[in-house]
Amino acid sequence: MNAYDIAIGQLERAAAAMNLDPQVHTILLQPKNELIVNFPVKMDDGSFRLFKGYRIQHNNIMGPFKGGLRFHRDVHLDEVKALAAWMTWKCAVVEVPFGGAMGGIKFDPRCHSAAELERITRRYTHALGNNIGPDHDIPAPDVGTNGQTMVWVMDTYMNFVPQDRKNAVRGCVTGKTLSSGGSQGREKATGQGLVYVIQEWARENHFPLDGCTFALQGYGNVGAHVARLLSRLGASLVAVQDDSGAIGAGEGLHPARLAEHVQQTGGVRGFSGGDEISAAEFFATNCDFFIPAALEKQITAETAARLRCKVVVEGANGPTDSEGERVLAQRGIDILPDILANAGGVTVSYFEWLQNRRAEAWTLDEVDERLHRTLVHAYATVRRLARERRLDNRTAAYVHALERIQNVYRERGIFP
Ligand code: GLU
Repeated sequence: MNAYDIAIGQLERAAAAMNLDPQVHTILLQPKNELIVNFPVKMDDGSFRLFKGYRIQHNNIMGPFKGGLRFHRDVHLDEVKALAAWMTWKCAVVEVPFGGAMGGIKFDPRCHSAAELERITRRYTHALGNNIGPDHDIPAPDVGTNGQTMVWVMDTYMNFVPQDRKNAVRGCVTGKTLSSGGSQGREKATGQGLVYVIQEWARENHFPLDGCTFALQGYGNVGAHVARLLSRLGASLVAVQDDSGAIGAGEGLHPARLAEHVQQTGGVRGFSGGDEISAAEFFATNCDFFIPAALEKQITAETAARLRCKVVVEGANGPTDSEGERVLAQRGIDILPDILANAGGVTVSYFEWLQNRRAEAWTLDEVDERLHRTLVHAYATVRRLARERRLDNRTAAYVHALERIQNVYRERGIFP
């Protein structure tokens, strides 16, 4: 079962729960556009290598296509298609006026110099040409990319518009560095949003976050910010895993020291502030919140059976496969689904895009306050639907998104 099968399975369940219009259903089963580009890039040693890049544009009925750009060795068509569809639902859940898209290049960025990464990014952007743009399709960071990557995309894109349009297209990507037109609070936004969602869950369940525990899979942008922000509320990080290994500590791991270690060594393995544990031990860690913040398909029938947590909070996109989801439901473990829990990133991307359009710079407090308001509202809407229609949280989030999208299709009709 690949990521796209999982995404379709989720859509089918929601479609059945809400009686989705069959025509809208048919449209949403496939992305609108699938772009695949193969492009050569000169390596530092003078040789050339051919790269395969994707940009999948799932849907733009609610606004311009929007979604991340992933650099990873396992990027493939069905993965990018799934991620693009999840972006459509995510933007609709938080009522951000964007559609869904996703891009990727199949390679391991850790095996390349900064100069090679720059040439790969620029050549990919050039190959996409006018298939992206501030009013059409707006990439952002994802696994393996960051603010610097986005600035390279922006600069390359600016180089093929007329002189007098250059500044007007600054919003052709979001997640840029602050100095090149990024927003305050964008880098931590996904982690911050996830923490706001956890706080809402805690409020609803009268659960004190001070003194609680969490385990994290992945210590990249999302994981590291979640660790820092949750710790500030009195929670302690009792286990962490990434592709280098897993570390545990009953008394809690120090988020900033761990971030420093990951920065220096590339992974959590060898961190002196905790003990090495096995993957099986990691999944079986006793904690309140289990937070996958890495890649898809991590919570399977096998790993879901091991979890000893109250809630799974999906920082990653698509971390739970269909079997894993069934096991969690049987075991009474709640899910705060990706399209709600990790929507903070794209929400602040929208704020960045708005600031670029208006030539404004909002303060961090303004950004955080608006992000908080957006997620509190989305959480309340999803939970109300879940209660009223007796749905699980994921299906409720899908139903909320799909009802908004279906409504627009009904109003606009299908051309011609
Ligand atoms: N890659 C992030 C996500 O999956 C952010 C997307 C965006 O900001 O457009 O939500």
